[in-house]
Amino acid sequence: MKRALTQAFTKDRKNLVCEFHVTTKNNYLHMKLIRIALIAVLIFNKQIAFSQQNDVYADKYNENSKTVVQKVPENNLDLEKLNFHIAKFKGDKECAISYTFDDGLLEHATLVAPKMENLGFRGTFWINGKTIDNNDSTKPRVTWKQLKKMSRKGHEVSNHGWSHTNLNRIPMAQVKIEIAKNDSAIYVNTGVYPQTFCYPFNAKSDSVIAIASENRIDTRTKQISLGGKITSENIDRLVEEMLNNHEWVVTMTHGISYGYDHFNSEVIFYNHLQKVKNMEDKIWVDTFRKIGAYIKEEKAITLKINNTSKGYIVTPSLQLDENLFKEHLTAVIDSIDIKSVKIFQNYQKLKTIVYPDKIMFDFDPFGGAINIVITKNKK
Ligand SMILES: [Zn+2]
Repeated sequence: MKRALTQAFTKDRKNLVCEFHVTTKNNYLHMKLIRIALIAVLIFNKQIAFSQQNDVYADKYNENSKTVVQKVPENNLDLEKLNFHIAKFKGDKECAISYTFDDGLLEHATLVAPKMENLGFRGTFWINGKTIDNNDSTKPRVTWKQLKKMSRKGHEVSNHGWSHTNLNRIPMAQVKIEIAKNDSAIYVNTGVYPQTFCYPFNAKSDSVIAIASENRIDTRTKQISLGGKITSENIDRLVEEMLNNHEWVVTMTHGISYGYDHFNSEVIFYNHLQKVKNMEDKIWVDTFRKIGAYIKEEKAITLKINNTSKGYIVTPSLQLDENLFKEHLTAVIDSIDIKSVKIFQNYQKLKTIVYPDKIMFDFDPFGGAINIVITKNKK
C-alpha cells in the first residue's frame, strides 16, 4: 500500500504509519472498516500532496491543538514588476504559418507529407471524399490508406466538401449534406473527425460560413496562394512581411509538379521550407487546426492573478468548447530577479524555460489554477 501511495503522489510514503491486522475472509464489517480507513489515508495524503506541491500558503501543522494554522500571505515580491501574459503564438514565436494543400492530389502524400515530416513540420490537407481513390490517370488522387497514415503522423486531414461543389450555388440543405457527408467519410477512413473546413473555390457567404463553422475550430476564409508562377523572391518577401506584422499566414497550394496552379519548379517550394526551418526559433509552423485553436484560445482566455507568500496563483478561465480547443497556451513572465521558479498545474510540475529576459511555460487552459513558486535572489 505504501508503494501504491508513493506512486500515486510521487512522494515517498515509506514512513507513513499503517497498521495491518489479520482478518477472516467472512469478517465483512472488518473489511469494510479497513476500506474506509484506506480511503481516509488517501484523502489525507492527497491534501498533503496538494499543499506540498502547490505551496500555496505555507500551511503549518500545529501539533498541540491539532488544527491547521494558515499563515497570512505577505507580499515579499515586487508584484508591480511582474508582467504575466499569454504569448500571441506558441513558444512566444514572432509569427505562424499553416501550409494547406487542396483537393487531395496524390503527390500530397508522396512528396509533400514526407518532405514536411523530414523537417519536423505538419501540413493541412483539405480533401473531397468523392474523389479519393480516384483512378483518373491525368490527375491521380491520394488514397484513404495514405490519408490515414498522414493523419496518424500528425498531419491534418480535413473537410473541403464532399464533391467540391460551389456552396454558394446550392440550397442550404444541400450545403449541410456536402459538409456532413465528407465529415463522416474522413472520420470513418482516418479515425479523426475534421474540426476545420475549407470552402471549395473559396466560395462562401455569411450563411455558408455559419453552417460550416458549427462545432468547428475555424474555417479557411483567408489564404495566400503558394504555387503557380511564384518565385523564390516572392516567397522570401512573404516571410519577411509575416515576421514584421506578427501574423498567422495560411498558404494555399494545389499541385506541386502537376495539376492546378502547380509550381514552375518544386525546388522553389522545398527551398522555402528549408529557409523557414532555419528560422524555426521565430516562426511557428503547424496545422490550420492547431494554430487556429491557439489563436482563438489566446483571444478568449481571462486570467485571475493572486499573489501568495511564495509567488502567484494564476487562474485561467476559457469560455470555449473544451472538446474542440485542446491547444496548450504559452505563458510568458517578464523575468524578475529570481533564483529559481517552480510552476505547477493540477499536481503536475510544468516544464519551465528560463531565459535571461523571460520565463516561459505551456499550460492547459482548462487545467485549473497554476501555482508559480518563485525564489528571489538575495539583495
Ligand atoms: Zn479545391
